[in-house]
Amino acid sequence: MVMSDMGRSTHDLGMDLRHKQPIGPQEHGTRQSGAENVLATARRPLDDARAQLREAVEYLQYDESVYDMLAVARRELSVSIPLRRDDGRVEVLTGHRVQHNLSRGPGKGGLRYSPDVGIDEVRALAIWMTWKCALLDVPFGGAKGGITIDPRSYSHAELERVTRRYTSEVSPFIGPDIDIMAPDIGTDERTMAWMLDTYSVGRGNTVLGIVTGKPVTLGGSLGRAMATSRGVAYIAMLALAQRSIRVERASAAVQGFGKVGRGAARILHDAGVTVVGVSDADGAIFRQSGIDIPKLEEHVDMTGSVVGFSGAEPLPGQHELLTLDVDMLVPAAVEAVLTEENAAQVRAKVVVEGANGPTTSAADRILQEKGCLVVPDILANAGGVVVSYFEWVQANQAYWWTVDEVESRLDARMQFAWNRVWELVESSGISLRSAAMALAVRSVAEAHRVRGLYP
Ligand code: NAD
Repeated sequence: MVMSDMGRSTHDLGMDLRHKQPIGPQEHGTRQSGAENVLATARRPLDDARAQLREAVEYLQYDESVYDMLAVARRELSVSIPLRRDDGRVEVLTGHRVQHNLSRGPGKGGLRYSPDVGIDEVRALAIWMTWKCALLDVPFGGAKGGITIDPRSYSHAELERVTRRYTSEVSPFIGPDIDIMAPDIGTDERTMAWMLDTYSVGRGNTVLGIVTGKPVTLGGSLGRAMATSRGVAYIAMLALAQRSIRVERASAAVQGFGKVGRGAARILHDAGVTVVGVSDADGAIFRQSGIDIPKLEEHVDMTGSVVGFSGAEPLPGQHELLTLDVDMLVPAAVEAVLTEENAAQVRAKVVVEGANGPTTSAADRILQEKGCLVVPDILANAGGVVVSYFEWVQANQAYWWTVDEVESRLDARMQFAWNRVWELVESSGISLRSAAMALAVRSVAEAHRVRGLYP
């Protein structure tokens, strides 16, 4: 596919929005709109998400109005969540739900519980969900939610009350055909069960399609719990092969040992990759000859952290983990960990983004110049949303597939996405991220064009 094949004008897209001022990161223009003033205080992930969109719009030779349309969310809701603590005190928390784009189907995206999460982070994550669904040809738009809370400081009962109140507050705004939730950082299948129950009680009937990543006993899909990790590992193998690195000779470091990082480390280990470094929020560990991941999993199940594992040495911190001399680095924790400050010191030949937005735009440029193959989040970690889609399909049909069916369909989707991205990389010479973004943005813009602009 060549550049001119992908170009479209604003008029073609049915987005005659030329009267609007452009909205974007300050580095991309001198014109300031109200939204840009808001952006002046934005966190880096939102700047990065918009910078990636800007680059794709320019590559596709789309009009500025396409950028304007896709740089902002379709709908945003922020809610107060009064919580009665176990000791009787009342604390008021804040939650958000952002629906970035609904042109290809209902919103889809995780719910994050983190002390750092704010509206700009949720906006960035919702934007990335839009591209991920489009790239994998999953018929959803992009959405995301978050509550500013450190779940480790709250009891099980308190977390249940927070989840139920949040669900109740956003319920007019969500639904199996409107916006579907899933787990993310700090949330899990138990959280999804509480959401499903709260939403269903409000509706008067059980609505299985309101969440994905729910327990299998409650209509969850077999294979969902490991789906993101399986997709990350699948893409990691393709990336290693692309760089002519044999799996059984490959070494890797994985940042984050939660739902994504732990499963990815385990699958890579089982496939013969030597996982020499692993970290979580509490610290990092290293073993030159390879960490025994199943034993590490037992340790984490007992203690809650990778720290203190007797089968490895402690590393001073995340910086040392990210700059280990390995073939492959899998950042699978949080955003913006590979930055302008540390990218030059990254020694991995391949970076597979298990997390959303782990590489800032500046770091991305540095890694490109070093010849490092960076597999972007919207491709690498899309396995979760693919099986979420399968779960939603199964729940809507009330007919469940075997784990083999789920996994083989997942592998086929990941291979399909890798092939189409790689085809564009080869024909155009652009990076994997630029190619993935171009394909995704084109797909969303096409949906807008054929739907037309209402009214
Ligand atoms: P999780 O809460 O299960 O695990 C997060 C892990 O990262 C934990 O081990 C935590 O200790 C660690 N961590 C947190 N802050 C850290 C830091 N500053 N440095 C190092 N480690 C840190 O969350 P998850 O579901 O595994 O999500 C991880 C990333 O993957 C997020 O970016 C998320 O948006 C993305 N993601 C998740 C899914 C999914 O299905 N869960 C799908 C796609 C993308």
